[in-house]
Amino acid sequence: MAEGDTILRAKNRLSDALVGQSIGVSAPNPRGRAAGIERLDGRTLAGIDAHGKHLLFDFGDLVLHSHLGMSGGWHVYGRGERWRRPRTSAWAVLSGERSEAVEFGGPTLRLLRASRVAIDPQLARLGPDILAPEFEPAPVIAAMRADPGRSLGDALLDQTLVAGIGNIFKSEACFAARVDPWRPLADLGDEEVAAVLEAARAQMLAAVASGRHTYAVYRARRPCPVCRGRVSARGQGDANRTTYWCPNCQG
Ligand SMILES: [Zn+2]
Repeated sequence: MAEGDTILRAKNRLSDALVGQSIGVSAPNPRGRAAGIERLDGRTLAGIDAHGKHLLFDFGDLVLHSHLGMSGGWHVYGRGERWRRPRTSAWAVLSGERSEAVEFGGPTLRLLRASRVAIDPQLARLGPDILAPEFEPAPVIAAMRADPGRSLGDALLDQTLVAGIGNIFKSEACFAARVDPWRPLADLGDEEVAAVLEAARAQMLAAVASGRHTYAVYRARRPCPVCRGRVSARGQGDANRTTYWCPNCQG
């Protein structure tokens, strides 16, 4: 699953390779053709925005919107370099002067009018981006307070409350802040929720810089690194996404 840190790294790589250039656009797979992305062929890519798990490619009055979900990915290759996946499975190929970016899979690839981005139902519902330079926990906490019976771990994955946190950093941030992800928001002080959000942001920014994920509790492959006790794992929320936590350290 691509979380916000992976998307921000992709944005940085894609921007270095393609922004400011006239882009050749093709869609070898019917899914990309169905999205009409070939209309972008020959346009200049003015910039790329990341918001949570979403990428927005600015082609003037048209914007290419991608969301990678569990399975999608953007690869960046030198022109003529061999791809790691078959050409026919590429939904979008963006070719610049020296590099090409290739998109495979994912739930969302579509064209939007630039004037619609601010009012698009899928994008306008997104909460503040956890990795945005101006991120502040207070508005997120205020929004979470609307549903006080909801558990913290479930709320952290709700992209309409805060955009960019996925299953890894849900578990890792709660562990770093020593907060039990199963506690309902009504039981948590603002400073506890803020500590979890700030931990998620710090961990994700570190992952953007290093390109690596290091896990304390995620996937429960080892004992708790603090108390050496057993890490618990259980599905949480409507989507039943597995949460990992140390009942001893996060009691
Ligand atoms: Zn522990």
